[in-house]
Amino acid sequence: MILINECFLRLPGNYLFSEIANKVNAYKKEHPGSKVISLGIGDVTQPLAPAVIRALHLATDEMSDADTLRGYAPDSGYPFLIDAIIKNDYNARGIDFDSDEIFVNDGAKSDTGNIGDILSVENTVAMTDPVYPVYVDSNAMAGRAGFFKNGNWDKIRYLPCTPENDFVPELMSEHADMIYLCYPNNPTGTTLTKEQLKTWVDYALREKALILYDSAYEAYITEENIPHSIYEIDGAKEVAIEFRSFSKTAGFTGLRCGYTVIPKALKAYDKAGNCCSLNQLWRRRQSTKFNGTAYIVQRAAEAVYSPEGKTQIQETIAYYLENARIIKSALESLGMAVYGGINAPYIWAKTPKNTPSSWDFFELLLNQLQLVTTPGVGFGKSGEGFIRFTAFGRKTNVEEAVERIKLLKI
Ligand code: PLP
Repeated sequence: MILINECFLRLPGNYLFSEIANKVNAYKKEHPGSKVISLGIGDVTQPLAPAVIRALHLATDEMSDADTLRGYAPDSGYPFLIDAIIKNDYNARGIDFDSDEIFVNDGAKSDTGNIGDILSVENTVAMTDPVYPVYVDSNAMAGRAGFFKNGNWDKIRYLPCTPENDFVPELMSEHADMIYLCYPNNPTGTTLTKEQLKTWVDYALREKALILYDSAYEAYITEENIPHSIYEIDGAKEVAIEFRSFSKTAGFTGLRCGYTVIPKALKAYDKAGNCCSLNQLWRRRQSTKFNGTAYIVQRAAEAVYSPEGKTQIQETIAYYLENARIIKSALESLGMAVYGGINAPYIWAKTPKNTPSSWDFFELLLNQLQLVTTPGVGFGKSGEGFIRFTAFGRKTNVEEAVERIKLLKI
């Protein structure tokens, strides 16, 4: 008899964005011809940078010639890309890594979900709430989250991030082994200062805990004193894994490329208390289960760091941040409490008093204004009473959406 991993049966409903897609499709079916504008899922709309396209063409041409064809890529990435990552994303900020501390992948979702493979299911897990659902669901699938009761997993330690604490998770008095932090944050669009992040690094050093730091949106940081990398904080190499992605930095959601940093200084332990290298365990895991990111995609990612590539991606990021500013100011003009949108492509707004539930407000925006958003509660219990707007739309759509939003009676 084939037995299943029963942890999957404990997962509630659908993945959030599948549920939203179902509702939107049902609406479109009932209202053919209506112009539905999406400010929902965080997917890009602007074309890839010309430098990236050129690199893709050149690399594709190489594949057409037996002399330059590339077969299987190195599991953890081609040296040309790893060198560009270290030089531009780390050396430029005074941080150094060896090339074997960088693992190129097919996007941050895979590694943020898979990293649990090398960590015990007995570890206690803490994460901010609201939170990117992949951290929750992947831990639930592994059996680390326990059971889902009254909207929460009973073995996860949630760290509420709300206007009351300025979206800064409070340090726990108790111990946790694994702590997920994502800054700039999806969904709230908020950030931590270096001092605030340092308190978490110090906690992890004290508790022999691991921080899983997702900085997929670091390219959107516009303000000073906001760390782009957790390794800007002293001691972080001993306690943190960092996940990065080209998806939102350079529009790679369809191309697929990201990377994970696992410093060699980062140690974890077996039950007997012996030190083990997470870098080595992850290398072992990747060489067994992952066959590398496509050569042409890695060449495209390399082009992101070329002088033209850098200028071009900055223009696109500025375009999305301008969308964020437009959405934020429209919501504020209605008197709504609005957060994020300055160092992140997400705007997190308090739902109005007359429609306080996240899903009810989502439905109202869909049915009355034909706007797709993301209900805050989909990201966790502390997200109830909030709605998330993304700034990744086309500007003309964002402007039209904003005209519709201004019609809201709240
Ligand atoms: N991490 C966060 C916080 C995200 O919001 C996303 C995507 O929306 C990802 C990781 C995954 O990005 P990708 O797999 O496209 O690199």
